[in-house]
Amino acid sequence: MTVPTKVMKHERLQLPRVVILGAGFAGLEVAQQLAQKALCVTLIDRQDHHTFQPLLHQVVTAELEAQQICYPIRSALRRARNVRFVQAEVHHIQTRQRQVKTSAGGFDYDFLVIATGATSHLEILPGSPSAAAPNSVFGLKTIGDAIALRHHLAKVLARAHRPISAAPDLFAPTQFESVQSASTQAAHTTVESMADQTVVIVGGGATGVELAGAIAGWCKRSRHNAAACLPHPAKKLVLLHSRDRLLPGFRPRLQRYALKQLQAMGVDVHCLKRVQLLSSQGVQLSDGQLIPTKTVIWTTGVRGNPPAWKGEGPTTHRLPVRPTLQLLEDDHIYAVGDVAAGTSEAEPWPMLASVAVQQGRFAARNIRRQAQGQRLKPFRMRHWGAMAILGRHAAVVQLGPLTLTGVVAWLIWLAVHLMLLRGMRQRLTTLLRWSESYRYRSPRVRSSVSPSMTASMSMTTSASSRPQPCSHPIFCAK
Ligand SMILES: Cc1cc2nc3c(=O)[nH]c(=O)nc-3n(C[C@H](O)[C@H](O)[C@H](O)COP(=O)(O)OP(=O)(O)OC[C@H]3O[C@@H](n4cnc5c(N)ncnc54)[C@H](O)[C@@H]3O)c2cc1C
Repeated sequence: MTVPTKVMKHERLQLPRVVILGAGFAGLEVAQQLAQKALCVTLIDRQDHHTFQPLLHQVVTAELEAQQICYPIRSALRRARNVRFVQAEVHHIQTRQRQVKTSAGGFDYDFLVIATGATSHLEILPGSPSAAAPNSVFGLKTIGDAIALRHHLAKVLARAHRPISAAPDLFAPTQFESVQSASTQAAHTTVESMADQTVVIVGGGATGVELAGAIAGWCKRSRHNAAACLPHPAKKLVLLHSRDRLLPGFRPRLQRYALKQLQAMGVDVHCLKRVQLLSSQGVQLSDGQLIPTKTVIWTTGVRGNPPAWKGEGPTTHRLPVRPTLQLLEDDHIYAVGDVAAGTSEAEPWPMLASVAVQQGRFAARNIRRQAQGQRLKPFRMRHWGAMAILGRHAAVVQLGPLTLTGVVAWLIWLAVHLMLLRGMRQRLTTLLRWSESYRYRSPRVRSSVSPSMTASMSMTTSASSRPQPCSHPIFCAK
């Protein structure tokens, strides 16, 4: 394998080799903290860009484009002379040989950092996704997921001009059965049409709530543009949550506000509803109700995403680590971010970007201490608060004892996310998009992007930057 000149010198000096798997929040932070240090660092990721996941829902609803939340990894490391980036798929780790096997070959390490994040746990879905209608079950973890979902929702909204005749209440248990037993062509058409136009989001955590708010806003704006050709959103957007309150972890006042806000936007929120089965007909709940739908967005049940393991080692999805962030059974392997699970703290570490960044910074310091033969320090998580956006001009913010709602919270949410974005260009273009979108109530361009693009999407040949044909006039309102 060719070694970039910028790290050849460091390899010749036989400095300790650090290999980092994953360039998300945690992995990129480790690489940046180890830049210009006496270490030879290799960062490996399957993508050539870092994704700012907290804004993925705005890509789904076309408020932002992929370029605004994806940052080229090479640009983030351009001044780091001792760090090279390799775009490759990590296959497995051979702990005895201290080698990582990837699609670009093997990489030997003295210290390994696993930062491969989490993945949507679609396998835990009752009924396999393949049993459901094709393309009907979506996760939201990568930019590819967001673009595929945007494309699908654009089609759902475009179909929504069909009226639902005598639309029954989705949550009346007997309704679907009676419609079925009648088995008339008309009833069949009604159920088909309801399924076509109903989007079900499963999970009332921050991701589900933010996505529900964004999609409800999108429906409202589309209806505005398309001269009321869409049916009432309550028939289309359902949020299912297995607990009694939305936004677990937030204060009750904020949970109540979120519920009221979503309901006011036309989202059909149902707490204490557990999904039992997904089928091509829709979502079957544990109490026997069936919601006819062809679109399910699964935001709950994410799990750690460690690479396959060869040799002795943990097989759980989140890797248990010591307070020093080293794996329990290997002093030379660290795990950080969503993939790591603490074993000493009373509460499991939340899967949050802020925690991943703190751990990345901390692991880098401990690696340097270990390389210099110093004592390692234990990681202490700092949790400043939480926030979630609920569409336009509404958000909830919890900062220490302070709780805020409404426009003030919304402005804080925008400012914090703008600040956390990587890259000045990304921040500026995001600010422009938001100003334009919030001022004119609708983004200038609503393009429908084919999911096939996502396979070839890279920051060097960014497909989303090329002009794309638009499939529907509503989403092309220049
Ligand atoms: C929709 C959504 C909204 C969110 N909103 C918020 C929020 O508002 N606030 C907040 O704090 N957190 C939020 N989070 C959580 C936050 O994004 C994660 O906690 C954070 O990304 C974790 O960072 P990480 O570095 O552990 O993993 P990631 O950022 O997921 O990075 C993992 C990296 O590993 C790479 N990778 C994985 N497997 C392989 C492999 N086999 N080979 C090569 N590369 C691989 C991936 O390509 C990826 O780049 C949100 C998450 C989602 C999905």
